[in-house]
Amino acid sequence: DQLISQIAAGEVVERPASIVKELVENSLDAGAAHIEVEVEQGGLRRIVVDDDGDGIAPSELPMAVARHATSKISSLSQLEAVASLGFRGEALASIASVAELTVASCGPGAEHGWAVSPGRHDDARPAPQNRGTRVEVRELFARIPARRKFLRAPATELRHLRRAFNQLALSRFDIGFVLRHDGVELARLAPAADTAARLARVVRVLGKSFDEHAVAVDEAAAGLRLTGWVATPGFSRGQADLQYSYVNARPIRDRVFNHAVRLAYRDLLHNQRHPAYVLYLEVDPRQVDVNAHPAKAEVRFRQSRLVHDFVFRSVGRALAAVEA
Ligand code: ADP
Ligand code: MG
Repeated sequence: DQLISQIAAGEVVERPASIVKELVENSLDAGAAHIEVEVEQGGLRRIVVDDDGDGIAPSELPMAVARHATSKISSLSQLEAVASLGFRGEALASIASVAELTVASCGPGAEHGWAVSPGRHDDARPAPQNRGTRVEVRELFARIPARRKFLRAPATELRHLRRAFNQLALSRFDIGFVLRHDGVELARLAPAADTAARLARVVRVLGKSFDEHAVAVDEAAAGLRLTGWVATPGFSRGQADLQYSYVNARPIRDRVFNHAVRLAYRDLLHNQRHPAYVLYLEVDPRQVDVNAHPAKAEVRFRQSRLVHDFVFRSVGRALAAVEA
């Protein structure tokens, strides 16, 4: 039973980066305007996500960290069925099964904060949290050597974690984000109201020289819209992690999308292995299946040819405009 919980948790909790993703998404769901992420040793030792969102009512705190769907999983075939769908409503419970979790929150109707630590303090106890929610995760996989051995060195885990943080920070310009690692502030992103401020945030994330190489994209056709920025070939950091793509404001990884962008570069004889871009595709929600794998951010377009050609042409036009 405990084992099945831990295997199930593997779907959501792969490494510190996936925990940060789940926790920040919860903060966004709670309407937070400011989110601080603080980690130690690449998140292996400690991850804290603190927000100013709506909070969790004291009476609901124990439920928020309890298992729902996965507690009913009793066989491997059921586990496979859930795994293929991904998990919903299970992040906190999954984290609690593989690490030490404490959730402190000052929710609706609370005069002060309350905290729970599943398995150690299951009943809510008073806590100094006076607004929003603070989730602390310690010693990931400490008691599960089979999982722990797949974790990498802190520096590598931090790289994955920053990528996850950046991906979320570029999905919500209206929210303030802070990232601290071992006491050092790595990012402080103020809310960005206009296009200039948004580009400034993108530059903070992709690096200073992105500023002089950024080309704005804004195209619409056939019910599709593509906005954002692509870097001209002069911007060659040659890194594989400077590609950010979103569908309907949600971070995605998609081969069709990435291929279309790369092809647009290649078409202009810029054989860039890793073009840098931050692109937002808006599409009729009925035209995209986002449930393919929620944890891994895969999507499936109903008309993938149409999307591919639109992205290809839009990026191509933006790049061609600066060539001219
Ligand atoms: P899900 O987000 O899919 O519902 P989670 O396990 O991530 O599942 O969270 C469980 C519940 O705990 C959420 O539905 C929400 O009610 C509450 N919760 C979690 N994090 C926060 C937060 N930062 N602020 C307010 N409520 C939260
Ligand atoms: Mg969640």
